[in-house]
Amino acid sequence: MKRAAIGIGSNLGDSIGICRDVFDLLRNPPAIDIVKASSLYRTSPVGSEAGGWFINGAALIETLLEPEALLDLLLAIEARFGRVRTIKWGPRILDLDILFYEEVPIDLPRLKAPHPLMSERLFVLMPLAEIAPDWIHPQTGLSVREMLDRLLRTDHGQLIEKLEK
Ligand code: ADP
Ligand code: MG
Repeated sequence: MKRAAIGIGSNLGDSIGICRDVFDLLRNPPAIDIVKASSLYRTSPVGSEAGGWFINGAALIETLLEPEALLDLLLAIEARFGRVRTIKWGPRILDLDILFYEEVPIDLPRLKAPHPLMSERLFVLMPLAEIAPDWIHPQTGLSVREMLDRLLRTDHGQLIEKLEK
């Protein structure tokens, strides 16, 4: 079994319900088992003025799937929720990203992991720090906890609020 982390985001429709449903849909042993699910967070949009706040979360999984097969499964789940790609970083019903796959860098045309922007995004690092604080970024040698501490000390301008379970 390989360990991977999935980032979940939504800012259209019933985002809280959608994110909760995704945790249930991901759980699919033996192909995918959820090791830990983070809390959900309400976060201010980054990189686009379009749309409202997001709901974000993350899941630590164990999987038999190879990275690209895992990506295909995530894209299929997005499609099931009716995601239509419009403008980059625009509003979305559901966004599922592979945040990391083991500690291996992946650089394929359709899959980059660890996710290239993870160290700049509070909405990724806060939930990830709940479920995988000691995972080490293969290219920087920093743990999730260290990346989060560093980001919090910068002028990141991102707002985030943990939701009650
Ligand atoms: P973003 O998540 O950056 O806002 P999209 O969700 O629209 O963008 O994804 C566009 C494409 O990004 C996907 O079709 C996928 O092939 C590619 N991609 C590259 N790396 C990853 C990754 N780590 N996780 C998910 N998708 C990725
Ligand atoms: Mg995505």
